[in-house]
Amino acid sequence: MKSFIDVPAGSDFPIQNLPYGVFIPNGSDRARPGTAIGDWVLDLNEMEKSGLLRTSFFSGSTLNPFMAAGRSAWTMVRKTLQHILSAECPDLRDDMDLRSLALFPRDAVSMVLPAQIGDYTDFYSSREHATNVGSLFRDPDNALLPNWLHLPVGYHGRASSIVPSGTEIKRPFGQTKADNADPVYGSSRLLDFELEVGFFTGPATELGERITVENAADHIFGFVLVNDWSARDIQKWEYVPLGPFLGKNFATSISPWIVTLDALEPFRCAGPAQDPKPLPYLETKGDFSFDIDLQVAIRADQAPQEDVVCRSNFKYLYWNICQQLAHHTSGGCNINPGDLMASGTISGPEKGSFGSMLEITWRGTNPVKMSDGTERKFIADGDTVVMRGAAEKDGLRIGFGEVVGRILPAS
Ligand code: CA
Repeated sequence: MKSFIDVPAGSDFPIQNLPYGVFIPNGSDRARPGTAIGDWVLDLNEMEKSGLLRTSFFSGSTLNPFMAAGRSAWTMVRKTLQHILSAECPDLRDDMDLRSLALFPRDAVSMVLPAQIGDYTDFYSSREHATNVGSLFRDPDNALLPNWLHLPVGYHGRASSIVPSGTEIKRPFGQTKADNADPVYGSSRLLDFELEVGFFTGPATELGERITVENAADHIFGFVLVNDWSARDIQKWEYVPLGPFLGKNFATSISPWIVTLDALEPFRCAGPAQDPKPLPYLETKGDFSFDIDLQVAIRADQAPQEDVVCRSNFKYLYWNICQQLAHHTSGGCNINPGDLMASGTISGPEKGSFGSMLEITWRGTNPVKMSDGTERKFIADGDTVVMRGAAEKDGLRIGFGEVVGRILPAS
């Protein structure tokens, strides 16, 4: 399938992708839903107004109404958009007035959060990450806690501090305590990123209702890249006994384009073997992971080039998205359209695939040498952290774009 819009080779956004986001054209003050195609953004509200898209999901400034509509609507809109944008269809292709109203160069828009995020949950689903962190924070011989192989561990995060890619992140203040010293309050010295992929939920459930593993995919709208910024020194002192709190809630950055499960279907694959076998309510039959290459780069302030510090893959996650959502709702917790559920740091088995500086530098004992001659144990002021993701095979590339964040000094 080809579009009449020229899609450059290697683009993240061919007609097979069509991710959803919310954008503001330069010079406008109205945010509106769109889809990305090559170097362009298509205004979905204009498609509705023109009658080419016979829906009423896109007149607002978030994707929540579309997320609420469910899988049959998602599939129908995707098919319609692929038709409208295809090389064969003249409706938009030959209507220059409509094209000038509805198509914007991607570099002439700014992206905002794609949804009003009511709730945010962060899982901890990479066995390698949990093992590394358990080794560093506790005991290398008992790195995984006894529950970890039986349920997808997570915590309820903070939706108010989720920000779109490009937002500058201020180094947080907090309470920390060095070994054999009294607690102090000051700026975090051990600022880190966490490479994650999150999914947005679809149709709401009622309080008391459970989503089964079989039905979970119908409640999953699509994926974004997530950088769960983490202050390790604050985290280390505060996390016992109730888990992450202020070491995590100062900022979480997400990529602006939501890549759908339909677009990722060709990249479906098996996750790691699960032993012990999950309890029946968490048992999934079939492949529920996706082969998505992920990378993290750091660009130091004023540095001429970035340094890639991690290459990982979504398929390393031990617990899959259906298990995460089924477990999350197994006690009757309701979900709403636009809730965000992140994977947890995605570390692979190799050292080069670790998804946080904590692991990459092994808590600072093995610093990263940067191309500008400096070295990093954690993230420095002025650093820009860039995460990218793309699934690629047989000439098809389904990309996520980037999630970018630059660190400002504490103030
Ligand atoms: Ca995390």
